[in-house]
Amino acid sequence: MTNDKLHLVPEMSEIWQQTLNWQPTAQQQVQFQQLYELILEGNRQLNLTRITDPQEFWEKHLWDSLRGIAPLLSSPSSTYPPVGERSRTTSPSLIDIGTGAGFPGIPTAIALPHWTVSLLDSTRKKMTFLEKMLSALALTNTKTLTGRVEEIGQQNQHRQNYDVALVRAVATASVCAEYTLPLLKPNGLAIIYRGNWTEEETTTLQNAVKQLGGVIEAIAQFTTPVSTSIRHYLYLRKVATTPVKFPRATGVPVQKPLS
Ligand code: SAM
Repeated sequence: MTNDKLHLVPEMSEIWQQTLNWQPTAQQQVQFQQLYELILEGNRQLNLTRITDPQEFWEKHLWDSLRGIAPLLSSPSSTYPPVGERSRTTSPSLIDIGTGAGFPGIPTAIALPHWTVSLLDSTRKKMTFLEKMLSALALTNTKTLTGRVEEIGQQNQHRQNYDVALVRAVATASVCAEYTLPLLKPNGLAIIYRGNWTEEETTTLQNAVKQLGGVIEAIAQFTTPVSTSIRHYLYLRKVATTPVKFPRATGVPVQKPLS
């Protein structure tokens, strides 16, 4: 096997089809490969990810990112999520909170070219790297935001401004609920990525979500297709206005999680 082959992200067309009822186009596959190479390059300067094997990259960064947004992939150009407020002329908007090296936001922006995807992280160094990566990928449907979500969630231009909010590996689920729900438009959808999940956690999350104007719409459990690890994707729907006191000041959601 040549060195080139060792660094080729697998196509996995059948697995994409079976598990997500979706497959990347040839152009999207090229973008996934470019993304992988840019991440490897960035890893030399910044500690972005410990996942560098192409197969593991495919499963943990590409498949996992897109498994969470599967409900959006099944109708990418339609009006999902069914928001009343959104004008037909603007593209649906999504924010990835605590995006780190760009996950799940960048694979999402590649898979949903008609959506506008905002990537938020508090670490400036990571955002500077992300900006370079986005221009190398020619991903014009993305925006970058540097800051703490507790502050962004209180700003008029962001609060109640997104159709969908994603959050993976940032905090516990009730903290993630406090980060996501204020940013959503009425009827918007928060998607929280988890590994393991228990019934007790559902009860705590239910209480937190209720205080924030949301409901738990669904909890989906999946086994990853290569390493057969467990994943849970929590879908929260915004059904009422989030009280203005949320999100609380920087650090408070983590120190005193809603329960
Ligand atoms: N979501 C990415 C992933 O799954 O690969 C990165 C996860 S990384 C473990 C957590 C990221 O969340 C870090 O880059 C950190 O800077 C960011 N973060 C944590 N708390 C945050 C906050 N309150 N506001 C904005 N970003 C935050």
